[in-house]
Amino acid sequence: MSPLVAPGVTVASLQRPGALDPVDHRILVCHALGLSRTGLITHSERVLSGDEAARLSALLQRRLDGEPIAYIVGKREFYGLDFEVSPAVLIPRPETELLVELALERLPPQGRVLDMGTGSGAIAVALAHTRPDAVVTALDVSPAALAVAQRNAAANDVTVQFLHSDWFSAVDAATFDLIVSNPPYIASGDRHLAEGDLRFEPAGALTDHADGLSALRRIVDGAPARLAPGGWLLMEHGYDQSAAVQALLAAQGYTHVQSWHDLAGIARVTGGRAGLR
Ligand code: GLN
Repeated sequence: MSPLVAPGVTVASLQRPGALDPVDHRILVCHALGLSRTGLITHSERVLSGDEAARLSALLQRRLDGEPIAYIVGKREFYGLDFEVSPAVLIPRPETELLVELALERLPPQGRVLDMGTGSGAIAVALAHTRPDAVVTALDVSPAALAVAQRNAAANDVTVQFLHSDWFSAVDAATFDLIVSNPPYIASGDRHLAEGDLRFEPAGALTDHADGLSALRRIVDGAPARLAPGGWLLMEHGYDQSAAVQALLAAQGYTHVQSWHDLAGIARVTGGRAGLR
């Protein structure tokens, strides 16, 4: 098979493999050659060496084989910040910015917030970056994810206290003003798990290997004991889960139970307040 990119071609004459998205192509060319977007223009006559052609060919092939662009380049933007990502963590999604915004609206001055199942640390780092006064704790069951999250906190110059914990198991006495989570909520056997980017993402971050509600249920059940009176619990969930999550919250005595829609018009975050009667 001939390589996707032959040595000796110029940057300007690079051809996009037919099936590849033009934006993905541009991102991979920049990544392989160490060029910025404007560098593509200012270096348009640069001739690719054998190494560069081989490197770019390999990246293009990975993308053609379905690997998410964020894993190939090792980063993704979220809430205006750069995050390192690897297959140890879910790739941050734009709809999760809704959870960050709702949390920011409810975080009191010097508020204490807990992010459960932090993954790349996207939510915790975005909160800490926007609200330097906040006391941010983030936990995950995966040590590999925590290592990524720790690097993301450092790279974005924020302080987050990280905790290795299976949901609430390592969180007993602490009291929080706010608990947020984007837990695994896809039901086992859901066909989306076998499609697109999700095939390459960590299963434990996507699915609870059950009905899709088991992680949400554990968080709903455990949060009241860790929340200050009136403290909010906010959780992201799947497109068809808002009624079920509202019912879980109501059954546990939360008040102000409600859901919020993402930019696609999907009920995406549901929450309520603990300990207010
Ligand atoms: N929002 C993700 C998706 O459907 C799932 C993330 C999650 O389970 N927390 O692709």
